[in-house]
Amino acid sequence: MAKYVYFFGAGKAEGNASMKDLLGGKGAGLAEMTNAGLPVPPGFTISTVACNEYYNNNQSLPPGLWDEVKTALKQLEQTSDKGFGSTANPLLVSVRSGAKFSMPGMMDTVLNLGLNKETLQGLAKLTGNDRFAYDAYRRFIQMFGRIVLGVEGHEFDSKLEAYKEKVHAKLDTDLTAAHLKEIGEQFEKVVADKTGAPFPSDPMQQLEMAVKAVFGSWFGKRAIDYRRINKIPDDLGTAVNIVTMVFGNMGQDSGTGVAFTRNPATGEPELYGEYLQNAQGEDVVAGVRTPKKIAQLKEEMPEIYQQFKKVAESLERHYKDVQDLEFTIERGKLWMLQTRSAKRTGLAAIRVAVDMVNESLIDRKTAIMRVEPQQLDQLLHPVIDPEAKSKAVKEDRNLAKGLPASPGAATGQVVFDADEAEKLGHSGKQVILVRVETSPEDFHGMVAAQAILTARGGMTSHAAVVARGMGKCCVAGCEELRIDYIKKQFQVRDQVIKEGDYITLDGSTGEVFEGQLPIVDSEVVQVTKGRMKGGESMLYTYFAQLLAWGDEVRRLKVRTNADTPHDSAVARGFGAEGIGLCRTEHMFFEGDRIDSVREMIAFAGDFKSFETQLNMAKAEFAKSHSSAIGENIKKLEEQIKLPKDRYFNALSNLLPMQREDFVGIFRAMNGLPVTIRTLDPPLHEFLPHTKEEITALAQKLNVDAKSLIEKVESLRESNPMLGHRGCRLGIVYPEITEMQARAIFEAAAQVMGEGIEVHPEVMIPLVGITKELELQSDVVHRVAKEVMDKSGKKIDYLVGTMIEIPRAALTAGDIAKEAQFFSFGTNDLTQTTFGFSRDDSGKFLPYYVEHKILRDDPFQVLDQTGVGRLVELAVKEGRATRPDLKVGICGEHGGDPTTIHFCDRVGLNYVSCSPYRVPIARLAAAQAALEKSSGYTTA
Ligand code: ADP
Ligand code: MG
Ligand code: MG
Repeated sequence: MAKYVYFFGAGKAEGNASMKDLLGGKGAGLAEMTNAGLPVPPGFTISTVACNEYYNNNQSLPPGLWDEVKTALKQLEQTSDKGFGSTANPLLVSVRSGAKFSMPGMMDTVLNLGLNKETLQGLAKLTGNDRFAYDAYRRFIQMFGRIVLGVEGHEFDSKLEAYKEKVHAKLDTDLTAAHLKEIGEQFEKVVADKTGAPFPSDPMQQLEMAVKAVFGSWFGKRAIDYRRINKIPDDLGTAVNIVTMVFGNMGQDSGTGVAFTRNPATGEPELYGEYLQNAQGEDVVAGVRTPKKIAQLKEEMPEIYQQFKKVAESLERHYKDVQDLEFTIERGKLWMLQTRSAKRTGLAAIRVAVDMVNESLIDRKTAIMRVEPQQLDQLLHPVIDPEAKSKAVKEDRNLAKGLPASPGAATGQVVFDADEAEKLGHSGKQVILVRVETSPEDFHGMVAAQAILTARGGMTSHAAVVARGMGKCCVAGCEELRIDYIKKQFQVRDQVIKEGDYITLDGSTGEVFEGQLPIVDSEVVQVTKGRMKGGESMLYTYFAQLLAWGDEVRRLKVRTNADTPHDSAVARGFGAEGIGLCRTEHMFFEGDRIDSVREMIAFAGDFKSFETQLNMAKAEFAKSHSSAIGENIKKLEEQIKLPKDRYFNALSNLLPMQREDFVGIFRAMNGLPVTIRTLDPPLHEFLPHTKEEITALAQKLNVDAKSLIEKVESLRESNPMLGHRGCRLGIVYPEITEMQARAIFEAAAQVMGEGIEVHPEVMIPLVGITKELELQSDVVHRVAKEVMDKSGKKIDYLVGTMIEIPRAALTAGDIAKEAQFFSFGTNDLTQTTFGFSRDDSGKFLPYYVEHKILRDDPFQVLDQTGVGRLVELAVKEGRATRPDLKVGICGEHGGDPTTIHFCDRVGLNYVSCSPYRVPIARLAAAQAALEKSSGYTTA
């Protein structure tokens, strides 16, 4: 018989911290705390296996489960000395969802379950506190009604507000027992009206409904959305925790709170949290009242504070990680309700990891594994321009100050509704979602907004937690805001901000500004760009330390994809160890170069066709010496003149420009290898498309408009991705490859003269046949020799190829005879292996991912099964031919952590990615190396 239920209580638990898969994070934490002798109210956890069975069983509870629940309830009754459903001494429980990873989309916790009219009387008598009992009951109906029965929350809220107005109560705490009793009755009616059935009074039935609702929420839309964004598999399932209630709402000597053992936004080592006196569970998180800082507890309940501090410290030491804690104080007694490793910002993650190493709590390897590579992104986030900011302060444009809930800065137009935010966000507008507080229903709007601003709620409110998770700027609990959803405006003192007005947020300080302030680079980026010294930035110091530790263990090199000296320098600042892909054609669009490029294209075809005719004529003439052919040769020589002149003229105009670009890049990458790809895109991409534009071009080039239109037409391809591009261009027009090679080697010779060390690697794209590479590398080697002979400089260069066509991968052993290096162009390799055109795949790929036909979008995460197999094969067979073959990857995938792990495993020498992903790739490569060497796994 399967075991579904795991008990904890009275100092002993059946589970422990290592059973997260089975018990979920919350359940495992409760078990571990119980075993450690901490004050945890007893309870039991229904495992994730039961949840999965529930779905396999057509959404019914697996046989045997309910018997186990009943047995556990008996044990709970014994341990707590109360009875579930007992009118004399009722046992009340909370029902809490808890998956392996904490997920905002999951079902909210139901508190006070087990209450009904009769048990309510018992609770009142037992506690001698009618007000408390009636308050607990109305809360229960409200929560159960909303969460389990699906009655909309405002149905209750409006009743409560109206009642408060009627009796002139300002706060919930002003309501008397009699008031709360009446409110409870009104709530019961709301449920009966809205659901067509009386509120379920049988505690056993309540429990069953709640458990099923938790299971049901696993496949709720919000949970599915969250899992998709965070790449959490659907088949983990959720556990359900049933925990004896303890009450923080029994008076001023009671309360409830949440705390982190270190600051989750900055990583500062300080106990960090919030609490509310005389309050229950969700009050703190939901932002009903704005909570007090945990430091205040030291004044109000010094003993409890000391006890809690000790517990917090011991939990952090035990787990060797920052803990996210929840506690309740019931009449002066502390109860622990949760411990889990805390969600944190990228900054906090790095600081905590480095600090903990310095505190000898963890070793360097653990520190490296602790930070998710993706999180580094947050340190590269922009901030409000400091000068503009102080000016704005002087001008009194700082509207308000809330809590610095999630760092970063953003500016945008105010919207008050999640749907509106989504609509405008998708249409390309920058919006800031402003809400009194957010709830999971607002998730889609939060995704689309630049930032989130709330009037209520603390650092642990929904808005704050979700924004931090998304790395999005958020200011929460900005109490001065008077938000009016109907008028679509908010007011601060006498200032009114309407929907569509601009505001600017600083999520690191909590400041809200009126208007649009300029947003600039973060400290890390400024140091990287040389605009600030590393030592001046604490942020940078932590960032650099962690990456330096990573560099010590990493095997894979990290290069960057960069086309300009500026990008090269930035990437080098981020630690790039070379350029893995420099796309020469990107330079073609700079300034007025495009004119020369277009001239080259306009005459290349004519030149080629006359050249072919001439060659044929000359060959025939050599055999026949016919005078007619001789005449024809003369005529052709006359005809070829113009296109030849113009073609070579254009090429010679381009040569110095390209050379200058390479000079800049070589200087920036002094000492590091630079891979330069020869011309790749189809020629029509450089040409204008409309008749007007082409006519204008014809005038500029001084050619006939009609024939130019025809030329452009003839270059158009119905499937350009597979058309005349890549090395196929250089083979038909070797003069272009020659010009590019010359620019590369002349630039190299020039900078060598300046004392700069260069290692150009010339890369021929889209090769599928060894002969293609032979033809192109012959050109490159010949030009290299010419330049070296002329300059007297010996240039250390390589010629290699991209592997981006399945045939190239399949014949890699042969291609490696000619290629000195391979670089996997995984964008094209993915397109050609799947037979998907990336630009068209948006029509079906999302559907594929949603329906699990593919696990990930193969253009973001390398498809290891298919494309990866070709990569592995090509590496193996290429190295069999040429053991020292250098191999890298330069597709978008080069910056994706999962792909980087794969690249490490199959023995690539380097990955190459865009400059801002270099730090991410460095860390991911370090993690990959550690994982392989010591069985570490990323959480
Ligand atoms: P979440 O996953 O959203 O943190 P939890 O289940 O941890 O949800 O709890 C929500 C709130 O309910 C917390 O503030 C917690 O303190 C409170 N709570 C949960 N169980 C109990 C209980 N048995 N007694 C008192 N408060 C509880
Ligand atoms: Mg919750
Ligand atoms: Mg919790």
